[in-house]
Amino acid sequence: MNRPMNISANGTTPLDGTSKQALLDKLGQQAVGLDVDFVLADGETSRRVYLDSTASTLRLQVVQDVLDKYQPYYSNTHSMVHFGAKLSTSQYAWAHEMVLKFVHADPEAYTAFFTGNGTTAGINRVAQTLRAQRPERDVAITSVMEHHSNDLPHRKHFAHVVHVPAEDGPNSLGSVCLRSVEAALEKYGDRVNYISVTGVSNVTGIINPVHKLAELAHRYGALLVVDAAQMIAHLPIHMSGNSDSARDIDVVVFSGHKIYAPGSPGVVVARKELFSGIEPQEVGGGMVEDVWLDRFTSTPKLPDREEAGTPNICGAIGLATALYALDRVGMDLIADEEEELIKYALRKLSEIDDVVIYGDNDAERYARAGALSFNVKGVHHGLTGAVLNDYFNIAVRNECFCAHPYVREMITQALADEDDGLTNEELEALAEMQRGMVRASFGIYTTRADIDALAEAVRAIGENRGLYEGQYDQLECGDFVHKTFQFNPEEFFSIGGAVDAWLAE
Ligand code: PMP
Repeated sequence: MNRPMNISANGTTPLDGTSKQALLDKLGQQAVGLDVDFVLADGETSRRVYLDSTASTLRLQVVQDVLDKYQPYYSNTHSMVHFGAKLSTSQYAWAHEMVLKFVHADPEAYTAFFTGNGTTAGINRVAQTLRAQRPERDVAITSVMEHHSNDLPHRKHFAHVVHVPAEDGPNSLGSVCLRSVEAALEKYGDRVNYISVTGVSNVTGIINPVHKLAELAHRYGALLVVDAAQMIAHLPIHMSGNSDSARDIDVVVFSGHKIYAPGSPGVVVARKELFSGIEPQEVGGGMVEDVWLDRFTSTPKLPDREEAGTPNICGAIGLATALYALDRVGMDLIADEEEELIKYALRKLSEIDDVVIYGDNDAERYARAGALSFNVKGVHHGLTGAVLNDYFNIAVRNECFCAHPYVREMITQALADEDDGLTNEELEALAEMQRGMVRASFGIYTTRADIDALAEAVRAIGENRGLYEGQYDQLECGDFVHKTFQFNPEEFFSIGGAVDAWLAE
């Protein structure tokens, strides 16, 4: 018989340090997909090393289990009268509360709502709404470090977008240049609507000083929007309650597939007044107060007015499950552990001849979280990525990670450092040809053994580049395809096959 479950955001006794560590270890070790085996190009079978968490983290087992437990009660949150609907509605509301708690946003002042596809949908909504809310402020400031999702929406909705550079650190580029931000604020004054920056770069993992940026923005009447896609799983976020309220963050956007809960929609957390008083961008069921044939009135109630249509209820519940579990561990502990891990990775990779790590790699000067990107000099990033997968079972990402300007700038800088005899045109042409990197990225399940495996593989690629090059053809699109080894995804999994197996049981 199904019994009521007791899941409450409140009233849970705090864990001590040892219990938090034990819980973190359990969550990490039981992530779904750590035990996947593949047959490699040399015929050997081995366990995959997953170093692509920046693209999407693996799902936590607890997310899977809680979603399974919830399914019998699944109902539409817009149906109010029956038991399943009441249960779904209460847990969906709780998911919003959990989001606010996780990013330390005062529920009196902030709202959280779910929207569309990933962080991208959230940033589009924010750009559109903030422009409509303050139309006279027609300039947005962002940075060269951004993912396209935190750049193109501002370009679409604003008359002018300023891309401030990253600091030119002693080794390479660092975090967002505060002097340039201030210069842009000075120049555009009360035309600036907001500054929107990534909390953590999805290419280098370099952390941006979001609270200093908030202070700067607020001094000029502008807002601070943080693209937290890469921050949410790696660092604690304090939207409100900071020592000085000028350091509070106005808007944070992220999505569940970056924090161990794939299947979630995007999430926006924002000051309530920013999403009040104007007509919501999306209209339909769930966000109206009343509708006549010639007009309608939107509900003033947040988050409802921003969530037109039947929500992605399971996605929100999965996300809230992950946030609740991580909140029990505490993001401070997670951040501390990952800081050590990324320093270890930087050290191990920088010990290898011919490896270039992008961004200023003095971790004391520019702290990093979650990711780093590199190349083996003279080896195409596509080949390195393919060999890491096909011969070493290490899952990474290569190319430009939807951050073309930032990647282009760092590749150009590295090539100029290697050969200062190149003309600007030669440098540009070479950088265009070689544009791309290999990214290794981490989550709570990543171990030092994973980093050791990566470092060994990268060393082997550098030492045996000719041998590996001989095994691949490069297609016109730039991809590398093994001459003899082929991976057939359907041998491992197909939806039809899984359904047939179920039907046959
Ligand atoms: N911003 C950053 C910094 C990202 O890393 C990503 C995803 N790689 C996005 C935005 C877009 O996120 P989503 O895929 O959830 O829309």
